Amino acid sequence: MVLYLGLNRKVEGLAHHTLLLEKDWESGFDILFDPEKAAWPESPSYYVNVPSKTDTTAAPPGGETLFVLVPLAPGLPDTPDRRQQLRDHLLDHLEATIEEPIRDAIVSERCFAFQDFADRYNAYRGTALGLSHTLLQTALWRPAHRSRKVSNLYYSGHYTHPGIGVPMTLISSQIVVKEIIQEQRAGR
Ligand SMILES: Cc1cc2nc3c(=O)[nH]c(=O)nc-3n(C[C@H](O)[C@H](O)[C@H](O)COP(=O)(O)OP(=O)(O)OC[C@H]3O[C@@H](n4cnc5c(N)ncnc54)[C@H](O)[C@@H]3O)c2cc1C
Repeated sequence: MVLYLGLNRKVEGLAHHTLLLEKDWESGFDILFDPEKAAWPESPSYYVNVPSKTDTTAAPPGGETLFVLVPLAPGLPDTPDRRQQLRDHLLDHLEATIEEPIRDAIVSERCFAFQDFADRYNAYRGTALGLSHTLLQTALWRPAHRSRKVSNLYYSGHYTHPGIGVPMTLISSQIVVKEIIQEQRAGR
């Protein structure tokens, strides 16, 4: 789940990148990766990005833009109440951690989570990150670049080899380009 917050004043206690890690590390991972324990977290680890710290065009003068990202297991029931509870917890935790109020400075706010990823991107179970890198979804077992059904159709991006993340998806495109050139040279 991602919160996008526009503030009408500066936040002193945050840098461009801030990672806030929960103390209960093991159970934090369990509710993300163990399907039997998957749940909305009470007290998650999360990441806060403040692009306006280094990019003055990211917010009006004197303001700040916050991007708050919480990893969640895919396919959880996405209800306004659950979102609201987590949003309130995050703001409580952030305000307490940096010892600065944030709520009273919020002038714009958006939340983006499972149902939005599903509606806008047709994402399976509302996943933001696509196929995870488990053994059977890695390397040879990840979906192939070349379509097995339609000739001359190629796929690239995070659902294919090598995987998730901007660097990986760029590598994926490079691999596809090489494959297409090889095919053309071979006259196929
Ligand atoms: C919140 C979040 C934070 C992330 N943070 C990082 C990070 O810090 N570092 C990092 O390396 N990676 C990060 N990632 C992962 C990274 O963004 C993805 O792995 C990467 O963008 C995948 O690239 P892609 O080209 O495969 O797909 P996308 O970037 O999703 O591009 C697919 C495009 O296809 C379009 N599209 C979909 N369906 C259709 C259609 N039917 N017709 C036309 N167009 C269509 C979509 O609108 C979209 O523009 C993050 C992802 C999320 C969601």
